[in-house]
Amino acid sequence: MKLVKHIANLGYGSRKEVQRMFREGRITNAAGAVLYADDPLDHGDVRVDGQPLDPPPGLLLMLHKPTGYTCSTRDAGRLVYDLLPPRFRLRDPVLSTVGRLDRDTSGLLLLTDDGQLLHRIISPKAKLPKVYVATLAQDLRGDEAALFAAGTLLLEGETMPLLPAQLEVLAPRRARLTLHEGRYHQVRRMFAATGNHVDALHRERVGGLTLDDLPEGQWRALDEGARARLF
Ligand code: URA
Repeated sequence: MKLVKHIANLGYGSRKEVQRMFREGRITNAAGAVLYADDPLDHGDVRVDGQPLDPPPGLLLMLHKPTGYTCSTRDAGRLVYDLLPPRFRLRDPVLSTVGRLDRDTSGLLLLTDDGQLLHRIISPKAKLPKVYVATLAQDLRGDEAALFAAGTLLLEGETMPLLPAQLEVLAPRRARLTLHEGRYHQVRRMFAATGNHVDALHRERVGGLTLDDLPEGQWRALDEGARARLF
């Protein structure tokens, strides 16, 4: 692949716009030597306006999603993409969220441009644990842990019972719930099935990945070590 195509695919501009950047001498190597549009891609140290190029395709990001942001690419309100550098929305291949969190759910959200990785993570076969902390409108009844663990709970409108899920009671109105699948509004619907209501929901873990000290609204690219903790 030519350098111009690679840089355009990273969202820096159309092919034409990037060609102009080359002509203006804005694309160099680390030593400041000007590079050319037709140069091959093996420039490990490409700079645009002196800044290192964005990460190449194969990107996996972790975002600490605040409430109030939707996982869709177009929506009237605030989007999770608004929390990423604007160029990241223009990349080819596109960066997609790995599954979704509701607008009113906060916590760990993954995004990737690697279709195979995305499918591997969300595949029902992976049964990747997803851990949520729910704050409830009413006190827990006491039988929820047994009900969720049974693997027999049928959500309204569905024909397949839920897989067993693990509930840990943290306080009368607070619980940690580990799921091994991802159905629509699953946590909210599970508590609704017990006559309760989820007032706040936060995802703290996916596979072996946690947010650690990542502040709300911030993101970070995950390296190979972090990826290995996913499965
Ligand atoms: N379950 C829900 O109800 N909402 C989420 O955002 C994630 C899981």
